[in-house]
Amino acid sequence: MPLEPTQAPLDILAIAAHRDDVEQTCGGTLLRMKSLGLRAGILDLTQGEAGTRGSAEERAAEAAEAARILKVDFRQALDIPDGRVENTWENRLKIAAVLRRTRPRVVILPYWTGRHPDHYTASTLGYEACFLAGLAKVETGTPPHRPFKIVYASLYADVRPSFVVDISEHIEARFAALMAYRSQYANQTSGSGLFVPEEEIRERILAMARHYGLLAGVRYAEPFVQKEVGLVDDLTLIPVPSI
Ligand SMILES: [Zn+2]
Repeated sequence: MPLEPTQAPLDILAIAAHRDDVEQTCGGTLLRMKSLGLRAGILDLTQGEAGTRGSAEERAAEAAEAARILKVDFRQALDIPDGRVENTWENRLKIAAVLRRTRPRVVILPYWTGRHPDHYTASTLGYEACFLAGLAKVETGTPPHRPFKIVYASLYADVRPSFVVDISEHIEARFAALMAYRSQYANQTSGSGLFVPEEEIRERILAMARHYGLLAGVRYAEPFVQKEVGLVDDLTLIPVPSI
């Protein structure tokens, strides 16, 4: 699902290591942004060839189906080796080229700590690519572009979010987008010791979304961390009641 040169820039681009990472951490938010009329996209850094279940081809078809459910305007997978996401100049340039082509105002990155090295490396790699994309002297064939804002999807990080996004209206589509990865999440024998049964995935997704929703007084939400402080103009418009 490439973005044609004639198409409008994206408002939001979510970058993550593996196909399904975005569905795991911020799919509901992309749906919410689409419902506001914004343009959203996904950049997967790898193609999923190292996974226990399913081939890269299967995962490509599943990613396309998930993109359809999330209604995104753009999705691309780079060719960085799965399980070997490294913060190299070459990889930064590959991501910077996509940033310049899609020109997002906001970039969603994975949180910067975690269990899987690909995930936390993608965080730093993505940040440095955002920086690089804005440097006029770095040549990628398209004009420089630096995103205005970077936020970190912190669903699986044990940290207090800076803010959450209300995804109450999108929880079913958010779950459906994740389940589009049949090779990963449908019940089957291979890797059954490692993978969670389908029924439990639903319970986990709903429980986490409910937890983050409760923090802000809504039904379901997804959490994010921003490194900057929030800026408030009108104190009477700050959402989330205190008592
Ligand atoms: Zn992953």
